[in-house]
Amino acid sequence: MTDHLQTLKYIKSDVLSLWVSSNEELASFSEYFLLLKQCLKKHLNISNAIFLSYEENHLAPVEEATAITIETRQKSVPWPMIEPSFYQQKVVGIPSILNENESYKDMTDMVLFQIENKDPFGILLVEATDLWTDFIHSDAGESFVEIITKTIKMINENLEVKLNEDQYRKLYNMTDLFHSTMDIDLILENVLKNIKDNFPEFNVELILSNDQDRHTTIDIKLFDYLSERPATIEAFVSGELTIELANDLNCRLLNVPIKGRQAIYGILQVNAPMTYIFSSSEKDFVCMLAQASGNALENAKLYHQSHRLVRDLQLINETSHRLNMRIDISEMLLFLQKQLMKSFQPMEVCFAFKNKNKFEITGASTSFFKTDEGSVYVKHVEQHFENTIDPLFIADFSRLASNDIEYRSVMAIPILMEETINGFSIVLHKEPYFFSFDSFKLMQSLIHHSSLAIANSILRDQLQEMVDRDHLTKLFARNYLDRYVEKSLDKDDSGMFLLIDIDNFKRVNDTYGHQIGDRVLVQIAKQLRKTVGSKGICARWGGEEMSIYVPNIDENEAIQLATDIVEVIPMETDPQVTISAGLITWNQKYRPAFQSVFLHADNALYEAKNSGKNQFCMHDHTLQTNS
Ligand code: GH3
Ligand code: MG
Ligand code: MG
Repeated sequence: MTDHLQTLKYIKSDVLSLWVSSNEELASFSEYFLLLKQCLKKHLNISNAIFLSYEENHLAPVEEATAITIETRQKSVPWPMIEPSFYQQKVVGIPSILNENESYKDMTDMVLFQIENKDPFGILLVEATDLWTDFIHSDAGESFVEIITKTIKMINENLEVKLNEDQYRKLYNMTDLFHSTMDIDLILENVLKNIKDNFPEFNVELILSNDQDRHTTIDIKLFDYLSERPATIEAFVSGELTIELANDLNCRLLNVPIKGRQAIYGILQVNAPMTYIFSSSEKDFVCMLAQASGNALENAKLYHQSHRLVRDLQLINETSHRLNMRIDISEMLLFLQKQLMKSFQPMEVCFAFKNKNKFEITGASTSFFKTDEGSVYVKHVEQHFENTIDPLFIADFSRLASNDIEYRSVMAIPILMEETINGFSIVLHKEPYFFSFDSFKLMQSLIHHSSLAIANSILRDQLQEMVDRDHLTKLFARNYLDRYVEKSLDKDDSGMFLLIDIDNFKRVNDTYGHQIGDRVLVQIAKQLRKTVGSKGICARWGGEEMSIYVPNIDENEAIQLATDIVEVIPMETDPQVTISAGLITWNQKYRPAFQSVFLHADNALYEAKNSGKNQFCMHDHTLQTNS
């Protein structure tokens, strides 16, 4: 009896020195256990003892002088379903579930270290000796268990404080960095680095939700509702940590939501071996880390978002302002093209407008859209807008196209005029998922705000066209010609004016009627336009008189043109008519006054009529004294 108390005293004294050294030196529980083992050996002759520490319904062996590593965690066994007597009696024979385990087969006794109603700290397995058996079943044995339980508790607390201190320091350094940056990549990089530092043996993944309006170099996975595992989705939706035993992947997955105040931005996923048990302090740490990064990410996002909104508003404002400056439609579209290029960095831009039920590609489009390949996109967009006025957003066109295509990101926005589609704009990029949804919304706003100005401009052009053109012949009207000639005399180096009068036209009217006469006028107009082409303009001078003005043309070419016209008209009219014409040409040496051009041409025409019609005469300025 006294022997046992004596032994207890020695053990107490050893435990005290253990405790003292634990405060200063012990880095892990296993170091403490090694010393405890030496003490058991010395005083109770125990040569074989194992401590199993308790965590989450599992027991993991604490091996001498090693931290609890993945390997030891992996050797953990489920908390044995032991007879209730174990809880009354601190020492029992080793249960068969443990005894069957090869590592514990020599052990005979099991001691439970637990403070009432709390999770146990763990159990001690020993191969009993006589000394031990005597001692442990005495009163001193009971005190021994009590003392060891208390020291384990204190050492655990001590170690936890140390661990927490270490983790809080890491967290502090990380949050400190987070507060000093709005760089989302830097934040993500640090989250990954910290978590990898903590679980160096495990695979760690950052799964972020899809609304990232960025192109990042950080190795992240995009959260995909369709393919994500249910436990991952659950963590994402509920905002709570989940642990999944993924039999198919042969691993244990820890999913921790990256949560801000407004939303959940993704999941931090730690991929551990199947048998690994995450301790509660590990889980707490990952949760705190995820929380800190969620807040930092949110701040950075809000910061970038507000900057972007300001930029977007400026863009829309600048665009609307510019478009309302009554610039003409082509200038307008070129300006819009520039804005789209600047804002979305597309590789190709197209503006198409409806003309007589057909969409025409405008000059403000990149040349790609005039190619066969480009027309694939135009056709697709046209088809889309046949049934809807909704804009079109395609993240990867290659999924829709049958053959190989070059541009995979597509956005197409309708240009509306009173709720009907008047045109559309397309932007393309080769990379799939290049345009963000925010860009899509911005492009819609931009086009929407420009639509009215574009519509107005088109209407203005149409109105002007009506004023400028003669209704019957579709030739330019007289006042348009006047303006054109006046400008040309001002800026061009040379030019020609041909005034044409149909010969004996009264007779056509009298013979066939006015309607046929009108038809002849249209036939001549058409032929004039064809002959002149884009070199100059044709106008209806009045009645059955028409005219041609061509700038930058030398005298020989002008004579040739006049000859051709006089020659071709009888061939292209039915009933056949001939024409007479008066020609005047000018150049840098001879630059007549505006009114003189018409006067001289009229005189030349008169001369042609008098010379027998079906010919042209040319004004000879060298004969003039007052040109
Ligand atoms: P000339 O060779 O001397 O020019 O003989 P002409 O018969 O053409 O004589 P003139 O130029 O004096 O006659 C012009 C005629 O053209 C008179 C008018 O009936 C006809 N005319 C003018 N405008 C129109 C028009 O818009 N439609 C039709 N059908 N006839 C027109
Ligand atoms: Mg006439
Ligand atoms: Mg005539």
